[in-house]
Amino acid sequence: METSSIRKKRDPRWTRFEEFLRSRGLRHSASRGLVVEIFFSNEGSISAEELWLAVKNQVPGIAVSTVYRTLRLLVDSGLARTCEGQGTVHYEPRSKASRDRIICMDCGKVMDLDLPEADLLQERIAMRLGYTVEQRELFMYGRCPACLRRRALAMKNAGRY
Ligand SMILES: [Zn+2]
Repeated sequence: METSSIRKKRDPRWTRFEEFLRSRGLRHSASRGLVVEIFFSNEGSISAEELWLAVKNQVPGIAVSTVYRTLRLLVDSGLARTCEGQGTVHYEPRSKASRDRIICMDCGKVMDLDLPEADLLQERIAMRLGYTVEQRELFMYGRCPACLRRRALAMKNAGRY
């Protein structure tokens, strides 16, 4: 299995994972970094044991618990998801192709969304129709909390005069 260094390429997934670790007060260890790299260089899903064996080629002393912990962090950060298969839990990268966003109709603010629910829906629809889904773009339009507050205030002020 070849390691394409997402670290060196400044892959946004790497940056996101680093930010996630920081938000949890965790530090990046070399072995954890390697687990992440090998995970993302792998196409499709992989079990923790398979990933552990792949990482062990490069870091012979790595504990399987490090692999499990790192996979858990990847899932928690929204970069990976679990899928059931062959009796063991497998992990796969969350689709890079999904660009789900919510857009404020008043101020135009765009927020990227992390939607595991939409992944599930996508899988169901694909299965029902016999398709593979290569890309997804989901747009939601509404009003952001700041604009809603502004509107409420404007209404209140309008009522006063
Ligand atoms: Zn807004």
